[in-house]
Amino acid sequence: MERGCVDLMGRQQRFSAFAAECWQAVPLSLRTEERSQARSFAEAFATYGQLSVARRQSLVRRCRQWLHDWQRSRQPSSPVAPPRLRLSPDSCQAPRRGSGRLQLDTPLAEMPGVGPKTAARLAALGLLLARDLLHYYPRDYLDYAHLVRISALEPGRTATIVASVRRCHAFNSPRNPNLSILELHLQDCTGRLRVSRFFAGKRFASPGWLKGQQRLYPPGADVAVSGLVKDSPYGPCFQDPLIEVLEDPRALVRSEQIGRMVPVYGLTEGLGADRLRQIVAGVLGLASAQPDPLPLAIRQHHALMERSGALVAIHRPTDAAQLQAARRRLVFDEFLLLQLALCRRRQEFRSRIAPVLQSPAGGTTDGTTGTASPTPTPTLVERFLDLLPFPLTGAQQRVLSEIRRDLARPQPMARLVQGDVGSGKTVVALAALLIAVEAGCQGVLMAPTEVLAEQHVAKIGAWLPQLHVSSALLTGSTPAARRRELLQDLINGQLQVLVGTHALLEDPVQFQRLGLVVVDEQHRFGVRQRNRLLAKGLQPHLLTMTATPIPRTLALSLHGDLDVSQIDELPPGRQPIRTRCLRASQRHEVHALIREQVAAGQRAYVVLPLVEESEKIDLLSAVAVHRQLQEEVFPDLQVGLLHGRLGSDDKQRVLTAFANGDCQVLVSTTVVEVGVDVPEASVMVIEHAERFGLAQLHQLRGRVGRGSAASQCLLIHDGNSALARQRLEVLVGSSDGFAIAEMDLQLRGPGAVLGTRQSGLPDLALASLTDDGSVLELARDVAQALIAADPNLEHHRGLAEALAEQRQRQLEAARLN
Ligand code: ADP
Ligand code: MG
Repeated sequence: MERGCVDLMGRQQRFSAFAAECWQAVPLSLRTEERSQARSFAEAFATYGQLSVARRQSLVRRCRQWLHDWQRSRQPSSPVAPPRLRLSPDSCQAPRRGSGRLQLDTPLAEMPGVGPKTAARLAALGLLLARDLLHYYPRDYLDYAHLVRISALEPGRTATIVASVRRCHAFNSPRNPNLSILELHLQDCTGRLRVSRFFAGKRFASPGWLKGQQRLYPPGADVAVSGLVKDSPYGPCFQDPLIEVLEDPRALVRSEQIGRMVPVYGLTEGLGADRLRQIVAGVLGLASAQPDPLPLAIRQHHALMERSGALVAIHRPTDAAQLQAARRRLVFDEFLLLQLALCRRRQEFRSRIAPVLQSPAGGTTDGTTGTASPTPTPTLVERFLDLLPFPLTGAQQRVLSEIRRDLARPQPMARLVQGDVGSGKTVVALAALLIAVEAGCQGVLMAPTEVLAEQHVAKIGAWLPQLHVSSALLTGSTPAARRRELLQDLINGQLQVLVGTHALLEDPVQFQRLGLVVVDEQHRFGVRQRNRLLAKGLQPHLLTMTATPIPRTLALSLHGDLDVSQIDELPPGRQPIRTRCLRASQRHEVHALIREQVAAGQRAYVVLPLVEESEKIDLLSAVAVHRQLQEEVFPDLQVGLLHGRLGSDDKQRVLTAFANGDCQVLVSTTVVEVGVDVPEASVMVIEHAERFGLAQLHQLRGRVGRGSAASQCLLIHDGNSALARQRLEVLVGSSDGFAIAEMDLQLRGPGAVLGTRQSGLPDLALASLTDDGSVLELARDVAQALIAADPNLEHHRGLAEALAEQRQRQLEAARLN
């Protein structure tokens, strides 16, 4: 449900077909009306695919609720129902119908004071059991715990004052006979304040009621007033405040709200805020039902609140400081489970044995100026680096030596190399592959698109033959005969470096001795694909690379099982890329710029989000733009067209023509997003830029500025949305991929930043990957220490159980997906 109710394709059928079948197949032992309900669910699921998301959600919700009720109806009922109790805040210990007390697993429908209607509404929020309420965290709080003097009231904030009544006046509005007004004149030692409340309705208009109000607030009485402070011509004032008369200024407030932090929950139709607050308050006593899974020593050392206290305080904090402490603990727990799972995965991976990849010479060959160690013949990597027309940057050297160190160990390497676009990851990967080859192993380079795989092979083809290293390309469109030959060479060890796409994952691809797997642009692959390739070697080393810099918090959550290296330096001599936002109406400027650059010997990309004209969305398509540019705007130039639906040969032809200058303008979809490297391209035009994520735009922009010419990136947008414009301005102002990714995360949230391709985003109820970075780091440290001391968590049963529970939930979610 949380994932938007997609009708996912399972191994054999779609979710909807599966669900419809299940509902069809209910046992005959059910009662007639139960079977007819099941039939109607079956019918509903048959059309699931055509329903709107809201309807899908509602259907799934109704099913869950029905199943829940059905399950409950099967349980033996108690002979005599005790009377319903009105729910009061301390009633959580109240007897439960039939059997004893409220427990974590008590269905909410059996909770005292919750009737079937309310239970159904709670179920609509996904709340079925008492424990669900405990973890139904407030979305926000009204901070009435902010106690101030009258003179310190600030408009725009909630606050509470304690003051004494000078005068009270209750009267009918002179303009509206059905409106009554209560006016209190208050004062404390710092000033005076007039507080008004309005009462609409005949009931409040009677003289008796008005008198009663006046008696309630006699001069000299002390009152506590909570509410939102507004600005008015007479200074700050309260907007419709809560008021309670106190016995004396120091007396405890009886109200559940005045002077406190009041939780604000996500609501549903028919369930009011106060009612939900009351129901949640009813289960808070259960918070202490489970022992704290975190050892006392760790809690104390890191100043973490006790878990049960945190669960209560998140719902009913006494003040902001306590709330913060409670939140910190619960966020910590979410991250801790996540990190424990990652630590164990990592530990499991590391416990396998990998081939030791060390050049026979054994020299320290970092490609740096060969110092003292007199290696008689240069290693393969050294000879490769000599072939390059440039020296490695410092960052490239550093990362290469990190990789080299890993490869020389008998544990498999699991490393992620992050580097901004154009930072030169490919040569580092090639050097790593050559280390494997020199040690007598085979290496694989997997790229997410054919275009990119072919480009890698073209580069490799320029270098490896000179080093007498064999290489080949395997993609989905490799002809069968060539493929057979290639697979043969692979299994008998003739072929040393294989480059390819997903096709590498297929079963007939077998190696003689696979030593290293490099996954380029790894964010384009899921974890499962990565693992399939790994399973092909005994236990090859793994090097993953990404140019989509993701913020550290995300990296830790997703790749906590990988070591991370950063190439944080661009090769020298790169010209900065000038980025501008333009409106569609300024397109003629774009054409002029392209013309000017092409005249100077440069080339231009024009990128569009779509291949063909779509009826629904009013967008320019690549095909239409290509036609227009070629026929109307640049009839004298060669305009190429590249998109994912072209055959592999056609793609290659188009790209080659662009690379060698036969074609000067390339209209493309986002297939050029990753990896494509044409140094002469100096203009990047992106149409409908508002439709792309910032990180993706940054990637696209990275296609230019690779040569020595000054380059430009033009973001064309519709210009209607200020927010979209503001997002694009981030790109204008920054060329730092990490800063941009960080911004993207802030603006769009982790789900959108990672996109759907990147599965495995943790489910976090409270923790935020944008705001809780420091707690995440702490949880990671604690998880590592825990696993190091107690690998199977045998002495931390509570944690082991929580972890098992989480795993179970994920498996269930994965099955549904
Ligand atoms: P990315 O990190 O985006 O994959 P590439 O590996 O495609 O970057 O490198 C971008 C360009 O920079 C390529 O043309 C590559 O040959 C060149 N390059 C790589 N390393 C260096 C270097 N140290 N000095 C100069 N140019 C380099
Ligand atoms: Mg690359």
